[in-house]
Formats: sequence, structure tokens, C-alpha cells
Amino acid sequence: SFHKSKGQHILKNPLLVDTIVQKSGIKSTDVVLEIGPGTGNLTKKLLEAGKKVIAVEIDPRMVLELQRRFQGTPYSNRLTVIQGDVLKTELPYFDICVANIPYQISSPLTFKLLGHQPAFRCAIIMFQREFAMRLVAQPGDKLYCRLTVNTQLHARIFHLLKVGKNNFRPPPKVDSSVVRIEPRKPRIDVNQKEWDGFLRICFNRKNKTLGAIFRQKNVISLLEKNYKTVQALKLSQEGPLKETETKMDLSSLGDCMDDESMEMEGGTDDDDYEMEVEDDEAKEVQSEFKGKVLGVLKEADFEEKRSSKLSLQEFLYLLSLFNKAGIHFC
Ligand code: SAM
Repeated sequence: SFHKSKGQHILKNPLLVDTIVQKSGIKSTDVVLEIGPGTGNLTKKLLEAGKKVIAVEIDPRMVLELQRRFQGTPYSNRLTVIQGDVLKTELPYFDICVANIPYQISSPLTFKLLGHQPAFRCAIIMFQREFAMRLVAQPGDKLYCRLTVNTQLHARIFHLLKVGKNNFRPPPKVDSSVVRIEPRKPRIDVNQKEWDGFLRICFNRKNKTLGAIFRQKNVISLLEKNYKTVQALKLSQEGPLKETETKMDLSSLGDCMDDESMEMEGGTDDDDYEMEVEDDEAKEVQSEFKGKVLGVLKEADFEEKRSSKLSLQEFLYLLSLFNKAGIHFC
């Protein structure tokens, strides 16, 4: 019997398994990471193609079945099975990742892989169709969202294959797609916390103009608070801006989808939200700071643009302009 909560939908079409392995471009020298090997249909083909397979599987019964399947075969000494939750497992070195995953871990797993160092060559992953289409979306596409921009910052992503429900047993409720994720080398150099804070604001209302988004009282007051903190730190010579991050931590990005699914069509209007202003002096400072923020948008002609149509390069450029003006998002 299969566990629904573990997303155990086994690939039953051997031709499809062959196609996935073919499209992966595995070399005979590759260490392959497989996530959620299940009963091992894909694992077997990966062992045929690569030098070594490391498989991470959460279900002890599946781990046993897998070990039984390859015991006493020429493959057994090239297969390492790690029992555990892939999200909580420290991943070993690998050249390429191939996986048919449970869809509920799509977002956190994607960012775990993208933060992994040293960067692997590519990952070939089966996702729910809509999630896959969000990953490969381009500016102006309906599914272009914060998840898209966040993943495309770290990787180039290609749609490889549409997969219908009936290739699985039991069949899932949704259609699937296989995508190829190639981490960018070198990485795009951007402060991760700044970037995350910036995109959360820009995609808060992705179809509104940036001018409208950055006029919101709560946005302005947040940015002003950050601004004052940075100024104070500068005065005390702490220099907070050049933080040396040794380890990439993208775990905060794992919730990209949650925001999206909470976004309501034509949602509530935050623009009319008025914040109580304590006294005239506070009001004055706030509007002066607002002018600074809007000045940055105007300077580069972003005021009338919308996040749903901005390219990755435009987001990076706008963030750099804000930072240059001393405006920070974390
Ligand atoms: N790879 C097999 C195939 O294609 O037939 C099985 C794929 S099935 C969609 C997903 C597999 O991932 C199941 O074997 C399930 O037990 C395992 N799994 C679920 N959650 C996991 C997690 N957090 N970490 C590792 N494996 C997990």
C-alpha cells in the first residue's frame, strides 16, 4: 500500500523512465543523486548510466525493498541509500540530480538544491505541471511570479517533457512535467536577504505599478526603518553592508508557493490603508523619505512598470539603484 502523504506515485511506464534518463545526459563518471527512489525503477537505469547513485528515501519500507532489489547484483556496491527526509539531510557531493519527487516538497527542495555547494551540473526533476510552468515562465506570462524570479536568479531552467497522470501508479490528481535546472556558474552576486525582501515587496501585488506599491504607507515606513538602522550603523562604523556569507542559505525562499496560493484574484486593496501619524515632524520626515524612494523609481523609469513584466536583469538593476541610494530591504 502506498502513503498518500509521502507522495508515493510510482512510475510504471518503462519508456518514460528511459526517456528521462536519456534526457538527463548522465556520464559514466557521474555521481548521481536520486531523491525518493521508491521501489527503484528509475534507480536501476541511473545505476546503468552513471558511476555511482546516492539515493535519499524517507520510507524505511522502501529502503528495505530497494536494498533487497539490488542485493547480490553488480550494482549493489555502486548504490548508497540514505534513509531520511531529504529536506533534513546534509547532501553529499553529486554531479547530477535525477528525481521523481513528492510534489509537496517542490519549493523547499528546489531552494535546497540551488543553495548546495559546490554547484552540481544539472538537476532533472519531475514536478507538478503548474509548478514546472512557474519555474520556466518569462516576464508577461500568467504564471510569472516571485518563485520564477527567485529560481531564475540561481539557475537556468528548461521544460523537457510533459507527463500525463496515467504514467504513475496510483495516478496523481495533477499532470506533471520534467524540467532541467542548471545552476548559474558563476553565481549572480547579490545579497540574498536584500533580494528576498525586495522581491516580497515587488510581488506583493504583482500586477500593480511599482509606483503604487512603493507609495504604500507600510512599505515606506518599513524602508525608512531599515534606512535609519543602516545610517546609524554607518555612523558607528560597523559597516553592515559587506557581510561575508560563507554558506548559502536559501531556506527562507522555500515558501514562495504559499504566498502565491494566498494571492487572491483582484485581492484586497492595500493602497488605501492609512497609517496613523504621531505628529507633524514624523509626517515631514516620512514624506521626505518617500520622495527619495519614488525618486529612485522615476530616475530609471520604473514607476509605471509592473513586476509581472519585469525581467530578472531589471529587478537586479532596480535593487542596485535602491541600495546605491542607501535604501535597503533587510
Ligand atoms: N522514484 C520512484 C518512481 O519514480 O517510481 C518513486 C517516486 S514517488 C513520486 C516519491 C518517493 O519519495 C516515494 O518513494 C516517497 O517515499 C519518497 N519521499 C517522500 N517524501 C520524501 C522526503 N521528504 N525525503 C525523501 N524521500 C521522500
